This record gives sequence, C-alpha cells and structure tokens, in this order.
Amino acid sequence: MRQTLDFLLHDWLKVQELTHRERFAEHSAETFAAVLDTCERIARDKFAPFNRLADTQEPHFDGERVHLPQATHDATKAYAESGMLAAAQDYDVGGMQLPCVIEMAGNAFFSKASVAMGGYAMLTSGNASLLMAHGTPLQREVFASNEFAGRWFGTMCLSEPQAGSSLSDVATRAELDDEADPLGPRYRLTGNKMWISGGEHEITENIVHLVLAKIPGPDGKLTPGTRGISLFIVPKHLVNTQAQLTGERNDVALAGLNHKLGYRGTTNCLLNFGEGRFTPGGRKGAVGYLVGKPGDGLRCMFHMMNEARIGVGLGAVMLGYAGYEASLEYAKQRPQGRPMTAAGKDSASPQRPIIEHADVRRMLLAQKSYVEGGLALELYCARLVDELATGDDKAGAQALLDVLIPIAKSWPSEWCLEANSLAIQVLGGYGYTRDFPVEQYWRDQRLNMIHEGTHGIQALDLLGRKVVQQGGASLAALAARVQQTIERAIQTDWAAQANQLAAALAQVGGATKKAWSTGQPEDALANAVPYMQAFGHTVLAWLWLDVALAVEGDSDFAQGKRAAARYFFAYELPKTGAWLQVVASREPLCREMKPEYF
Ligand SMILES: Cc1cc2nc3c(=O)[nH]c(=O)nc-3n(C[C@H](O)[C@H](O)[C@H](O)COP(=O)(O)OP(=O)(O)OC[C@H]3O[C@@H](n4cnc5c(N)ncnc54)[C@H](O)[C@@H]3O)c2cc1C
Repeated sequence: MRQTLDFLLHDWLKVQELTHRERFAEHSAETFAAVLDTCERIARDKFAPFNRLADTQEPHFDGERVHLPQATHDATKAYAESGMLAAAQDYDVGGMQLPCVIEMAGNAFFSKASVAMGGYAMLTSGNASLLMAHGTPLQREVFASNEFAGRWFGTMCLSEPQAGSSLSDVATRAELDDEADPLGPRYRLTGNKMWISGGEHEITENIVHLVLAKIPGPDGKLTPGTRGISLFIVPKHLVNTQAQLTGERNDVALAGLNHKLGYRGTTNCLLNFGEGRFTPGGRKGAVGYLVGKPGDGLRCMFHMMNEARIGVGLGAVMLGYAGYEASLEYAKQRPQGRPMTAAGKDSASPQRPIIEHADVRRMLLAQKSYVEGGLALELYCARLVDELATGDDKAGAQALLDVLIPIAKSWPSEWCLEANSLAIQVLGGYGYTRDFPVEQYWRDQRLNMIHEGTHGIQALDLLGRKVVQQGGASLAALAARVQQTIERAIQTDWAAQANQLAAALAQVGGATKKAWSTGQPEDALANAVPYMQAFGHTVLAWLWLDVALAVEGDSDFAQGKRAAARYFFAYELPKTGAWLQVVASREPLCREMKPEYF
C-alpha cells in the first residue's frame, strides 16, 4: 500500500508542488515522508496488533464506568504524542501546517490498522478544528488547544433517537443561563443524543461534546426546521477559563452503550443531557457554551464537512485495503484444485495455489480496482481541499468538491464493502471464521453506508442539489476535467477506454436532464441511488484512466496498475448503463409501490 500511496501522492498528484506555497514552504518531500513513516510505524506497532482485541473485548459499562482494553489507551496516547491531532493546524497553535492531503494520507495508516481505535482521534481532531474555525479565542484556547494536545477528547452530538437523517427534528433544548460567561453565552441543555461515538470513556480526563440543540423562542416553543439549530460546547467535567477542571461534573449521563455489528472498539453511546443525574451549580441541566451565533449550528457543524466525508470515505477505502492485502496473501499460499489445462487432469499432480484460478484473480482484481481507485478518489478530493484553502482557483476547486464529496463518502462505503465481501470469498470457509481478520473488516466496514449521511441521503444531495445547482455549474466543471483526461488518453493505448468514458459521461449528463425533465423532485429523486452509483463508477473510471496515464515503465507495479484500470473499464463501467436506464426513464415503480403491496 505504501508504494501505491507514494505513487499517487508524488507521481500523480504532484504534492511536492504544494511546498511552493507560503503556508507549506517549510515542508518538503522529506518532511512529508517523515510524517507518513511515523504514522505507518505507530499504526503497525500500537494499533494493528490490537485490532482484534478491541473487537472481542468490546467496551463494557458497569453502571458507573466504561471499561476499554489498555491497548486502546496506549494506542490513542501514541497517536496524540505524534502531533497528528493538530497536523493541519498553524505552527503557532502547536500544529504542523501539513496539507490536508498529507494529513489524510497519514491517517490512512490508522484506519487500516484499526479503524475503531483510530475513531477517538479522528473525532477529536474534527471537533477541535471546528472550534478553531467558529469558536471565540478563549474557546479555542481552553477547549481546542487541550484537544489538540490529547489531554481531552471530543465528540460530535447531532443524532437523536427520533432525529437521524432528519436533523431539522432535533429536540434538545437550550435555555439561556448567563449571557456573559467568559467561556461563551452559557445555556442549560436538556435532551437525548443517540449513537454518539466516543461519548463516554476514561481515556482522557475530560470529554468535549459538541452538541446541536434548539433555543426556544419567546413563546417557549422550538423553531421548526434547521434554522433554529445552534451549536454548544458541553464538557463532561466543567472547567474554568484556565482550562482547569473545577471538580464539578456536568449533567451529561451515559444511558447505555450500543452493541454494534462492528467498529466495536469505539464506544457508542446514548447520552442524556440535563436529566438531573448530576447537578452543576446546584441544579439540573447540562451546562453548554454557545459556539457561533444562535441558529448557526448546522452551518458551523458542516463547516468541516468536506474533511469529515473524505475521512469516512478514506476509512472505508483502508478497510477495503486491509481485506485486499489479507486475501491476496492467502490466495498465494492456499493450494486448492488444479489448472483447467491438460496438465491439470493429472490428479496425482500437486494442487496449485488458488491465485492461479482465473475466478480468484477476478476477485482480487475487483478488490484492487476498488481500493486503489478509492484511494485515488480520496487523495484527489483532499488535494482539492488544499486548492480551496491555498490555491489560485478556489471557485473551480469548490465546484468540483461540491459534486465529488457525495461520491467520496458513498462510493467506497459501497464498493469497498463489496471488496471486503470478496476478501471473505477468496478465503472460502476460513474467511467466514474469526480465525482470520477479513470478517471483522466487513463488519467494521458496514457502518460506512449508514453514518455521516446515509447512502440514500448522499444520493439525494448529489442528484437533488449538487448536479443542478447554479444551472449545473459543478457538473460542468467535473465534465471539463474528465474531458481533459479523455483528450490526453485518446492519443495513447488507452483510446478505447477514453471513448468508453466519453460515452458514459454523456449518458450521465443525458440521464441528469431526463431525470429532471418534469421538474418534479419526486420523479427525479426516486432513483437517486442508482444515479449515484452510475455517477460514482463514471468518476472512478475517469480517475483510473488518469492514474493509468501517469504510470511509467513495465515493472510489476506498473503492470498491476494498468491491469486494475483495464479491469474497471471491462467489468465495472458497463454497469452504469443499467443504473442510468431507470433514472432516465424516471421509473416510477419504487415511488408508486404501496406499503400494502409488500
Ligand atoms: C456506529 C454508529 C456511529 C455513529 N456515530 C455518530 C456520532 O458520533 N454522532 C452523531 O451525531 N451520530 C452518529 N451516528 C448516527 C448516524 O449519523 C445516523 O445513524 C444516521 O444519520 C442515520 O440516522 P438513523 O439511524 O436515525 O436512520 P434513519 O434516518 O431513520 O434512516 C433509516 C433509513 O431510511 C432512509 N431515509 C431516511 N430519511 C430518508 C429520506 N428523506 N429519503 C430517503 N430515504 C430516507 C435512510 O437512508 C436509511 O436507509 C452513528 C451511527 C452509528 C450506527
């Protein structure tokens, strides 16, 4: 994987060019490599050996405290000490001023080694970065700095039992307590937050919850819709302006842990805010400090959305990668069966490793094309985040990111799950047991189509908003990029694939228009997921073609990349036709099907 990562970063994405920019001027190819080396080493030594342990010894709540394996404490400590929590932050707040693309590449090692143990750090870094963007100077100093230092960890509390995809239905209330608190306007929160990752543990001395809640109007009622949602810092233990614990416990109580299919090493919690389990200041109500302006909560929360969704997509890719490597290793060693050729007819001849069967190679090539293509997608998007922050064409980067982010989140969630399923298949019965790691990768992976916006919600975002916004400007920006690759490829051995991609792109454009031709969202959006699948496969075919053009020589590495690219065009891209057919014809079946008919 490291060789592929280095190839994509340097030969394909030319990350060293970023060092010509003022923000990254103190970096070089060497400092980037040093970061990746450190991450690779910590992931190998502190995370990977304990990934199974974190799964089998799942977090346990004894009614008072949550217990986690010591390995989780040690791994997260090593991560914090590496400085990666503040990797992209300014030097003057203790950061490394790394480009997003290098930060993501470094974190990829942890997702591959143990996605669940890495979860605490990813959440903390996202939480603190949000506070750097929207918090007051004191909120940054007290909360964000201590999170970056690894002294406290953070969470994101959006979901509620009755409000998952539909965040406008959030019902947690925030009542004003003291407008003039130095840590920010102080409120008292009451409500329940469901599915909160990292919501309770004793890895760090405090937990900084970022909580979405509604401030009631003068009539005492909560404003319907997303406009009424605000964002609050709710620490588990109250702190003063010097970031010392005051000794008072905030009114945030763990109602219970969720017991999950996978991702078990990260605690997942139902948290009760303000139920009176604790009484800070002598009364019930969770103390929370407003971040940003009232009503600005969702905007603040989604400020880091690009990075969060690329992070989820990259996590999905790395789980796929872990399964791919494990099944590749197995396929080289497992003798089973004989060739179909005349030589294989001799049953006294030794059995051959299963990697020699074409069907096993198909399964390995499928995985290779999904995980390496997915890695290219995520790094490309992370590079665009750097363009947005420090590049010359910010508008162009924004337009591309708008349409690519739903794909960056959803495509690996679906296809690297398929990769994990194929990894199990390569191992046969052994893959279905807990003696091998591939079943855990599949279980861990299954989350990714659910959280950070479900598959269905991502598809609605893509077809309902992103491709139609500003008269289709984002789609046009993407099409122009794809066209550039096609024009380069048409002069090469890749001409056939270039033509195939041009046809797929035209089909996506045509289906988009037909889907919206009645102007009725319910017509267009009934088939949003097949649309997103076709869109994603077209994007991946484009990236594979672009990557193939960057490959030089005929080493095994180069031939492998070309084979995976060819696989994608031969076996995967043709699927888009079937997906787009129901989109273009606005197939009404799913929309019209009555609940009674099931
Ligand atoms: C392990 C785990 C960790 C999580 N971590 C966090 C966390 O740290 N913080 C946090 O705030 N949340 C977290 N979540 C919550 C996660 O974001 C939600 O589960 C997700 O948003 C979906 O909400 P829901 O589970 O209520 O499902 P629902 O919203 O009820 O969705 C159920 C199904 O209906 C579909 N659906 C819903 N609405 C529509 C619609 N309008 N159109 C079409 N289809 C629709 C969905 O696509 C889905 O398939 C986590 C969840 C899990 C499982």
